[in-house]
Amino acid sequence: MFSLKSPSWFKDSPCSGQDRLFFSSKPSNRRLAVKVCNSECSNRSECLKFAVSEGITIGVWGGKTGPDLARLVEHDA
Ligand code: SF4
Repeated sequence: MFSLKSPSWFKDSPCSGQDRLFFSSKPSNRRLAVKVCNSECSNRSECLKFAVSEGITIGVWGGKTGPDLARLVEHDA
């Protein structure tokens, strides 16, 4: 997940080193990743802003999955 630009706060986030979960194609894994974002991460707002500003529409960022990210990116354009 963080081979893209990596703001410094990513390395201490609960998703650090969890690319296989946060970029999984399995819906159950994506739901679990969202749960991690929403219950364990204090950087959710920054993360979502980062993803939208970078036009990222894959994976789970800021508690949002690809389709949600795509809508937000499109709205932000
Ligand atoms: S909101 Fe989710 S994807 Fe973003 S840094 Fe936190 S745990 Fe990682």
